[in-house]
Amino acid sequence: MSVVTTERHGEVLVIISNNPPVNALGAAVRQGLKAGLEEALGDDAVKAVVIRCDGRTFFAGADITEFGKGPVEPGLHEILAMIEDCPKPVVAAIHGTALGGGLETALCCHYRVAVPSAQLGVPEVKLGLLPGGGGTQRLPRVAGIEAAVEMCAIGNPISAKRALDLGLVDQLTGEDSLAADAIAYARNAIAKGPRKASEMPVKGDPASIAAFAKANARKFRGFDAPAANIACVEAATRLPFDEGEKFEREQFMKLMMGSQSAAQRHIFFAERKAAKIDGIADDVALRPVRTVGVIGAGTMGGGISMNFLSAGIPVTIVEMKQEALDRGTGIIRKNYDATAAKGRMKPEQVEAAMALLTPTLDLAALADCDLIIEAVFEDMAVKKDVFAKLDKIAKPGAILASNTSYLDIDEIAGVTSRPQDVLGMHFFSPANVMKLLEVVRGEKTADDVLATAMAIAKKIKKVAVVAGVCDGFIGNRMLRPRQQEAQKLLMEGATPQQIDKVHVDFGMPMGPFQMSDLAGLDIGWHRDPSRIETVRDALCAAGRLGQKTGKGFYDYDEKRTPTPSTDVQAIIDDFAAKSGKPKRDISDEEIIERTLYTMVNEGARILTEGKAQRASDIDVVWIYGYGWPVYRGGPMFWADLEGAEKIAKGLEKHGFELAPLLKEKAASKGRFNG
Ligand code: NAD
Repeated sequence: MSVVTTERHGEVLVIISNNPPVNALGAAVRQGLKAGLEEALGDDAVKAVVIRCDGRTFFAGADITEFGKGPVEPGLHEILAMIEDCPKPVVAAIHGTALGGGLETALCCHYRVAVPSAQLGVPEVKLGLLPGGGGTQRLPRVAGIEAAVEMCAIGNPISAKRALDLGLVDQLTGEDSLAADAIAYARNAIAKGPRKASEMPVKGDPASIAAFAKANARKFRGFDAPAANIACVEAATRLPFDEGEKFEREQFMKLMMGSQSAAQRHIFFAERKAAKIDGIADDVALRPVRTVGVIGAGTMGGGISMNFLSAGIPVTIVEMKQEALDRGTGIIRKNYDATAAKGRMKPEQVEAAMALLTPTLDLAALADCDLIIEAVFEDMAVKKDVFAKLDKIAKPGAILASNTSYLDIDEIAGVTSRPQDVLGMHFFSPANVMKLLEVVRGEKTADDVLATAMAIAKKIKKVAVVAGVCDGFIGNRMLRPRQQEAQKLLMEGATPQQIDKVHVDFGMPMGPFQMSDLAGLDIGWHRDPSRIETVRDALCAAGRLGQKTGKGFYDYDEKRTPTPSTDVQAIIDDFAAKSGKPKRDISDEEIIERTLYTMVNEGARILTEGKAQRASDIDVVWIYGYGWPVYRGGPMFWADLEGAEKIAKGLEKHGFELAPLLKEKAASKGRFNG
């Protein structure tokens, strides 16, 4: 049966798409729509048309699996033109989400009705694109310039109610009577006749566009697509519709052919692929996780707990001392209150979350927990002690996880009588905010334990990636060569601000030294002010511990704005002189080669060792854990764009040993990402 069917209701022909799960506008749907419209055109008894969808949503967009492939007839443009040019009024009946090509289809209909729960939007910008089916030209005419520019350049959907206020929706229907209400609306529209959005004047103040661009400049930094979306809406304010559409088309093609959209689409698929665990059946029975225990209420323990509390899962949190427990729970409450103050949570939601938290000093209180996550000091002896105790306390089948950043999960599992139940769950700081979770698979971790951890990650809205046991797993292991080279570059004549600027210009949220200042320079410091062997030792000894003390590699004002410090430069110069290496001018290119190419080299080793399942998983780690610019698609995708050969040459120039996989890719001109 065709995915598109028609029904006659007197003078109204209803065209119904049923293409689960989201009625994507794939080739079969387009063919069906064309046939439906031809039926309407060819039958004089049909005076009006309704287009609606069965299933959970109106057309939720283009079929993104068709992106980047050859066109399949009929194209969406042909269908859109057919709809708008139809001499009989066409009504879109919207439920669920009308997104992207879906909303553009609705915009070509002459009228739009929607259920109150519907959402409408053009999210293409999130894939580095723009609504290329006339969306940027019709939205300013139908919904007004201000709404159009925001919808196109930010990409978030709006509610049916707001759409009604804007004129994007003509009438709200009953939540359960869309089909009948749309037919009634279409009957009334027969007398009014068609109404083409392309023939309407643009609404609103064109000056609002520049104001919007300015207000969002920071958010859009580095991205091509927001500016292209804005330019298209701006074009709509001064060009006739046809010319505006032509401009939109050109801009769309430019984005579609460019590397940014390819990177953003890569990440879209990579994130979904990351959830798949090689060698484990999709239907492995999961262990139930109804209650969670967290050990340690420090920086990480508190944030980790919030993820579960927010998802409605009770958490028992354990500390060593009452004071630390009170401090930890106090910070959790403060964070929730801050969210509520911003209007992103209701006060009763805060209370509901806090009511799920049980603070205690008694490890034995974890006896009933299904999942226990340890977040105590990064010290093997302390962790082993905790896991040995847990082994005696936890119920059989409980999952025992460590949030360690670097330590050997197998060694930790080795102190228990149940290594099959142990794995790593490495959250990123701040753990209630950062999306990434590295799930570390130990040598003996059972399949169902791993699969359960991946499933629970999804439940708490994390993006989870499976990593193997090695020093620093995927993310921190790749961070190490970057940080080491950054330090060495200082000794050879680069300044912290030059190195950081190269990284920020590349699109990272901050450079290596800004990151160290944020994390605190005393992490892992030996804490002996008389022992000064590195720049870091000297800074710590001078009380320059980073942002928390107002100074680190930089001086910070109360707004945490960094300024370069002459004291720091003197310390660096002193060490550089002692290192015996002559100071020289360091080029930005060399900084990229030594701090970013080295990461790719380490990524290649991680792949060969099987510590990451696939190159795209490494990309996901860096996008969601470290703020790698999404428009560069992660380090391995970026390496593919640069070309393995160029990366290999850049590394060899500075005497680095090439990872065998990188060497192989360079020789074969191959790619890491398939
Ligand atoms: P933290 O010092 O802020 O907190 C650790 C807490 O654990 C302290 O409050 C301490 O009192 C408590 N604790 C220690 N031993 C305990 C025990 N036996 N029983 C109960 N509580 C105990 O440290 P953190 O930054 O939250 O780091 C915790 C773990 O998370 C470490 O393994 C660290 O490597 C890892 N981690 C940290 C970050 C980060 O950015 N801070 C990121 C990812 C992972």
